[in-house]
Amino acid sequence: MGSLDDRAVFETCESAIRSYCRNFPAVFVTASGATLTDASGRRYLDFLSGAGTLNYGHNNPAIKQRVIDYLAADGIVHSLDLHTSAKQRFIEEMVGTILRPRGLDYRIAFPGPTGANAVELALKFARRSTGRHNVVAFTNAYHGMSQGALAVSGTRSKRAGAGMPLSGVTRLPYDGYLGDLDSAALLEKMLEDPGSGVDPPAAVILETIQGEGGLNVAGAHWLRKIRQVTARHGVVLIVDDIQAGCGRTGSFFSFEPMGFAPDVVCLSKALGGMGMPLSVVLVRPDLDVLAPGQHNGTFRGNNLAFVAGTAALEMWRKPAFEAGIRDRAVRVADALAELVVRYPEHGAHVRGRGLMCGIGWSSAAVAGKVSKEAFARGLVIETSGAEGQVLKLMPPLTIDERELDAGLAIIEQSIAAVVGAAPRPGPVISERIAENAAM
Ligand code: PMP
Repeated sequence: MGSLDDRAVFETCESAIRSYCRNFPAVFVTASGATLTDASGRRYLDFLSGAGTLNYGHNNPAIKQRVIDYLAADGIVHSLDLHTSAKQRFIEEMVGTILRPRGLDYRIAFPGPTGANAVELALKFARRSTGRHNVVAFTNAYHGMSQGALAVSGTRSKRAGAGMPLSGVTRLPYDGYLGDLDSAALLEKMLEDPGSGVDPPAAVILETIQGEGGLNVAGAHWLRKIRQVTARHGVVLIVDDIQAGCGRTGSFFSFEPMGFAPDVVCLSKALGGMGMPLSVVLVRPDLDVLAPGQHNGTFRGNNLAFVAGTAALEMWRKPAFEAGIRDRAVRVADALAELVVRYPEHGAHVRGRGLMCGIGWSSAAVAGKVSKEAFARGLVIETSGAEGQVLKLMPPLTIDERELDAGLAIIEQSIAAVVGAAPRPGPVISERIAENAAM
């Protein structure tokens, strides 16, 4: 056996498909809040957060304790989809704290625990309820790696992994993809024009902010128009809120500020509270048409995830929780705005919304190097976009100001190390941290 921080076993025995670990080469051992610790005892701030899974931080004490208590009391862990008290509590909390106060009326379906599996079920609901098979999806979409989810995803290299045709999908430009071209108006025209060559689709599937696709934000007008057009043509609107949901953008659902309700919503990632695998598909009751067992699976009832997820949803009972996310988002947005103006020659610009935001660069090389430099300085932060051209910040929603500023300062220093110190203005973020420390 190698020493704990020896990575040889991964390199020789683990499949070549491993991915994130290539960019963050350490053996992580413990984690708490926004901090990861590796086998050599080195600490890192975590602005990756399991790609939006650890919204409440690593091992959030309030959540962890509930899981410990549940296990200590011999609570049932595995149950297929049998009724359990843990699932009952989760459903009650989901309805009482999240759905009902927002005026949303959905049935809750439990697919397998991954986001991709939620997308597969959402597509089945749409196809079976409409009797159509074609689905409209957008450029730079990311919906997961299983066959159906991959078919609606955009990235060419990921699609190539399927090794077979990915069909049944009409691709349209996402909002802003072609400058001013209004693809919601294009969709409307194509659905109305019998000569458009686009078969009436079962569904339109979209992310309100494309996370993996490069933090592309869809405008409220575009989203509302898609909602109107899909409603008019009996097309099921699926919002994949797997990454942008569970508070990442400031509200529980990313579409709340737009004032409409999708027909089907996919949630996963942070739903399991502390990184426990859990997904749900929220479906309009009349679209809940699959027969019993038509989306079966062994792990559709992960009771530890129900317990952790319930504890996490309880945090949403207090409006202060949402307000706290927004405060942090403003702090990050201010810092990023200060940063990008220093690097116009590298095309630096702010992208995203809420705590799902980052810096776009004209060259993917810059984003990649900044991420690498940041890791060397003790910050885990990834890139996104088809070419990896966006530095993507996903700190825990519960991160404290001091840690948030420390992470932002590492970003500031890493950018300066990669592209050279900016002539203007001064190192504002580092100064703010020094001020905070002095207080
Ligand atoms: N949809 C979106 C929007 C995602 O961001 C992801 C994961 N990055 C998925 C689906 C797939 O989730 P999973 O990796 O759990 O299958």
